Amino acid sequence: MDLSPEIEKRKTFAIISHPDAGKTTLTEKFLLFGGAINTAGAIKRNKANQNTTSDFMEIEKQRGISVATSVMGFEYRGKRINILDTPGHKDFAEDTYRTLSAVDSVILVVDSVKGVEEQTEKLMQVCRMRNTPVIIFINKMDREGKDAFDLLDEIENKLSISLCPLSWPIGQGYTFKGVYNRYHKELNLFEASKTKVAESIVKVNNLDDEAIAEHLKESDIKQLKNDLELVEGIYGDVDKELYLEGLLAPVFFGSAINNFGVRELLDTFIDIAPSPKSREAEERDVKASDSKFTGFVFKIHANLDPNHRDRIAFLRICSGKFERNTFYYHTRLKKKLKFANPMDFMANEKSLVETAYPGDVVGLYDSGNFKIGDTLTEGEQLQFKGIPSFSPEIFKELENRDPFKTKQLEKGIQQLTEEGVAQLFIQQPGNRKLVGAVGELQFEVISFRLEHEYGAKAAFRMLNYRKSSWVTSTNKNQLTDMERRRASNIAYDKEGNTVFLAENDWVINLAKQDFPEVSFHTTSEFK
Ligand code: GDP
Repeated sequence: MDLSPEIEKRKTFAIISHPDAGKTTLTEKFLLFGGAINTAGAIKRNKANQNTTSDFMEIEKQRGISVATSVMGFEYRGKRINILDTPGHKDFAEDTYRTLSAVDSVILVVDSVKGVEEQTEKLMQVCRMRNTPVIIFINKMDREGKDAFDLLDEIENKLSISLCPLSWPIGQGYTFKGVYNRYHKELNLFEASKTKVAESIVKVNNLDDEAIAEHLKESDIKQLKNDLELVEGIYGDVDKELYLEGLLAPVFFGSAINNFGVRELLDTFIDIAPSPKSREAEERDVKASDSKFTGFVFKIHANLDPNHRDRIAFLRICSGKFERNTFYYHTRLKKKLKFANPMDFMANEKSLVETAYPGDVVGLYDSGNFKIGDTLTEGEQLQFKGIPSFSPEIFKELENRDPFKTKQLEKGIQQLTEEGVAQLFIQQPGNRKLVGAVGELQFEVISFRLEHEYGAKAAFRMLNYRKSSWVTSTNKNQLTDMERRRASNIAYDKEGNTVFLAENDWVINLAKQDFPEVSFHTTSEFK
């Protein structure tokens, strides 16, 4: 069967941003355009900016129940759009990085007032690692932000990527009127609307059209013409190939909350964003059009309802056709599994899925078979690449506070780290359990969940390590020598790989000097 029409239809992407730049608002507007929701405010705010763990866990609980917000699928202009949600809080950056392994492109939202922020840069680095095509949306143009040309310079410099603006703002802040669509060479002026899809009040293809004069002052029109001439001279036309290679980012301006510039973004996105392509596995490249089904798990969502201990594993389909109630081969466990109730996600609802295609994400009920990165096939031994663990920055030793619940603690910490909540390392002597994370909130989540889901009581003791690297060497003796002589800096991850933990860069550099044939890697994917 020719899968190409189904593959071509699909656009699977994530909207990412530094918190508060407008990711959620933009997602909502997309869903409104897609008719997937009727009014803004329908999407649960996926935010953990609350300061107490209980507030945070309350949000997680709600999310646990409506896991559909993890993937939002809808149809728009004949395409099937899958938006993968990512947590905004920086303590959950790892979750975001993993989700980015499952998308074909991203839309990066930048706040026009704040410009490029810390998370913007980090997220861009992750996109660059995989050459993910990026479109940039400069949001909040209704506020007195930075000048459009200055913003482009700042983004180009800080994110080290070439840009090409495909829309251009008319006015800014209080005088912001809308955007000119450079890609389709047309002007749409809208009435601001916070809750519904805005009706275009004027649409022209020629800037000398008289109809504009009713809505824009002559000085605005003149300014726009000047700007466009300048933009044309500096940036020219968009090179789609460079965009698809991740070397050039088309830029759109707008105001998500007022629905300005959003349709321009969405319509162009539909035209130029990539459909599912091939993916790298350790054994070979897997083409989306391969007839045999393959897919990998990039996220595991715990069900926080204690009566239903199931978890949901999110599977990204990479090739072939996924079908309900069919046996698939779990390549790590080397066993066959079938799924009676796989879930499909359309906007805010989930439903039973019978078949799914490359680019789609299905939710699989899991009682403990999956961990992040697991691959399913029709029988081939295959392992997808590109879902590494990143080296944590905070390390704590896990201490058992209730000796009668040792088994529960053991099981809990194994399962939680398999879900990717944090990373587990073992240190000798004494099989000490070290938990590594990017943010403090991750530890709070672990303590809370160990207690509430597993009935175990744990405490964490802060350790001095701030850096970690996976270490390998072709010179086995040297590696063994290092493990022996630097024992207090050595730990092992769950796969038994050797990890070097360091208090600071100086300690790592010294080790590099002393053991020149040992390689240090900042992600777990070094084979
Ligand atoms: P997220 O953290 O990136 O998901 O950001 P949100 O979508 O929650 O937006 C953060 C804040 O910015 C909210 O108070 C929004 O109402 C506001 N916001 C979003 N888009 C715009 C916009 O275009 N203009 C203005 N002025 N505010 C906006």
